[in-house]
Amino acid sequence: MTDVTNIKGGPSLPQERKLVTSIPGPKSQELLARKNAAVAAGVGVALPIFTVAAGGGVMVDADGNSLIDLGSGIAVTGVGNSAPAVVEAVKAQVEKFTHTCFTVTPYDGYVEVAEKLNEITPGDFDKRSALFNTGAEAVENAIKIARHYTKKNGVVVFDHAYHGRTNLTMGMTAKNMPYKDGFGPFAPEIYRVPASYPFRDGLTGAEAAALSILQIEKQVGADNLAAMIIEPIQGEGGFIVPAEGYLKALSDWATANGVVFILDEVQTGFARTGTMFAADQEGFAPDLITTAKGIAGGLPLSAVTGRAEIMDSAHAGGLGGTYTGNPIACAAALATIDTYEKENLAERANEIGALIENFFAELQKNDDRIGDIRGRGAMSAVEFVMSGSKEPNAALTSAIAKQAGEQGVLVLTCGTFGNVVRFLPPLSISDELLLEGLQVVADILAAN
Ligand SMILES: *Cc1c(COP(=O)(O)O)cnc(C)c1O
Repeated sequence: MTDVTNIKGGPSLPQERKLVTSIPGPKSQELLARKNAAVAAGVGVALPIFTVAAGGGVMVDADGNSLIDLGSGIAVTGVGNSAPAVVEAVKAQVEKFTHTCFTVTPYDGYVEVAEKLNEITPGDFDKRSALFNTGAEAVENAIKIARHYTKKNGVVVFDHAYHGRTNLTMGMTAKNMPYKDGFGPFAPEIYRVPASYPFRDGLTGAEAAALSILQIEKQVGADNLAAMIIEPIQGEGGFIVPAEGYLKALSDWATANGVVFILDEVQTGFARTGTMFAADQEGFAPDLITTAKGIAGGLPLSAVTGRAEIMDSAHAGGLGGTYTGNPIACAAALATIDTYEKENLAERANEIGALIENFFAELQKNDDRIGDIRGRGAMSAVEFVMSGSKEPNAALTSAIAKQAGEQGVLVLTCGTFGNVVRFLPPLSISDELLLEGLQVVADILAAN
């Protein structure tokens, strides 16, 4: 078993679930009232506990409750919160300088991150990278670059896709509530086609790809298409792992038709799925890859990496931004990526995934509301259905998330139909803590 003691960050927090008040406690409730009076209502929260410390596999709130973290701030703190190496790197950089704007006067940290990304992303070809702040910004820039390179406009996206909350990426995202409702109009030249969803469509990868491609050819046409972008495992859409061969078939079609194939690995990237990138398990390399979430231990950073000829097609000054590739975030990224490699966290992700899948496979024998157990590595999920059917069971799903939170276990939901509980623990969590968290979910299932 992988030893995670080296990356238990935070101020040496006891690795335990301990409730000293109800959830949320009085201090969190007081802060929540202030939040509601000061923060725009659109900025909602999943679990209103106000964090004061976090590390390893726990989060401590303002009332002194210690909760098990099965969300990692949405797949961000893969190396754990306040991982020691990240804290050191940030401290060292913040004492030197905090900002110059890389496109005014550059610094080596940015270059080093680009070199590292070019090295570790899939594809044995000459690559370039450009750094940004958020996942949505990386996706927007990947589309900008693909359009500039191909001199075409169309962008193909998929059912159940999630790509962000800016205008372009909202338009690329599938789900209306809560992401898009009332926030249009959206950017033109975005075309949505069916995706592979083995639990619901029962199709092989080849069959699902043929359907997607037929629709692209009939309704868009390769000559109008700059890019096709897809998450290798759809995240917000429900942790949907496409049928084997689906992604490669799409990629082959894109290559044959002069369309830039982009993998959005913002959620799947950085050891999460048991390899450094999810694409490492697909047998091909995308033209461009977008990364963010797990890249820098919690500091805001994102990237587009890919084929040099595509990346270099945009003119100088065409890509950038005031804060893109901030030096502190770059220092954090270098320490974070080093930690994934040195601590063999991809391996740890596989151990975590096996543990979660075995746990729910056992429960599924006696509970047919567990429709599907899927995912890869520490990106695992359970899709809940009504007993005896495949009808989505969103009520049970939200009850699990709510009651788990009240019992000191942070779990997140997702899915187009709101019926998926997703598990994204930090890779620094111990087996004991993870199993305790899962048992809380099992007890809630038994009682509901
Ligand atoms: C979270 C996410 C994004 C958006 O990232 P932000 O940093 O929130 O802008 C884009 N794509 C995928 C696949 C994501 O999971």
